[in-house]
Amino acid sequence: MPSTPAPAPVTVIGLGPMGRAMAGAYLDRGHPVTVWNRTPSRADGLVGRGARLAATVEEALTASEVVVLSLTDHDAMYAVLERADPAALAGRVVVNLGSDTPERTREAAAWLAERGAVQLTGGVLTPPGGIGDPGSTTLYSGPREVFDAHRVTLEVLTAADHRGEDPGTAALLYQLNMTLFWTALTAYWQALALAGAHGLKAADILPLATGALDLSQFLDFYSPRVDAGDHTGDVDRLAMGAASVAHVLHTNADAGVDTTLPAALLEIFERGVAAGHGGDSSSSLVEVLSATSGR
Ligand code: NDP
Repeated sequence: MPSTPAPAPVTVIGLGPMGRAMAGAYLDRGHPVTVWNRTPSRADGLVGRGARLAATVEEALTASEVVVLSLTDHDAMYAVLERADPAALAGRVVVNLGSDTPERTREAAAWLAERGAVQLTGGVLTPPGGIGDPGSTTLYSGPREVFDAHRVTLEVLTAADHRGEDPGTAALLYQLNMTLFWTALTAYWQALALAGAHGLKAADILPLATGALDLSQFLDFYSPRVDAGDHTGDVDRLAMGAASVAHVLHTNADAGVDTTLPAALLEIFERGVAAGHGGDSSSSLVEVLSATSGR
């Protein structure tokens, strides 16, 4: 009978809500866990559950082949890793789950490679409560053979989906996800501010908000059209959208609510109309936004 390999030692560096959930998931599954955090007291609960708190970054790095980084961004990564002798990174598989741009993530992979470590980039698509749940997903990119060799360990956290060799790919997909997430969630905060100005609680508009933010039928409809460059205004016209957004702006202004967000929307819609898209679908804004990218 083949024996099941013992759970691999894992180091988790960065003990914000996400890193704590990750270290906890490894402890739950019987992995020897070493942790390090700039603010050591955040490790207290984990140490109580059996984690070892490393006294130095160097000690944390050398404790395990697999080193999970759960830091705010790559500036934090350099700030932490530069505390250690670079030799401590040699031979490590650094599972870099911190958020940053694809370009900065490629730079991080090269920086680690210069020190003999391999980076697997991960974009975690769940809040800390989803860690340890195989129904949650993390998108990875980096060397396929390294991913395959450590897949069992990665899947303690979430399902693991390898999306390519380029270390920037998972970062790009993560930032695409966050582009959607933060703009949609801020729309919700705006609606709650407007609701509140009229004496409505979040609970009062919960079904309305849930329905409005389920955009799946719109995405299914527009996705093939946008890919085909088809912005026919047979279902919606950008000029109609601009008038509607103006009503949104004025309703918020009348209620004394901050109008930064609706004003920005109206500016984009009006720019599309001025560019001659008034009779096209609002999907033509993809062209308008692409044309101004990087300005
Ligand atoms: P936090 O920003 O709350 O914590 C991150 C960690 O980074 C902390 O341990 C903090 O240390 C450390 N840190 C930040 N700056 C420095 C620095 N200059 N030097 C040393 N350490 C530093 O993040 P989360 O735990 O919420 O998330 C971690 C990563 O996971 C982020 O990149 C986030 O984008 C991503 N993520 C988070 C999700 C979430 O819902 N929370 C969901 C999906 C991804 P200290 O404790 O000392 O402050």
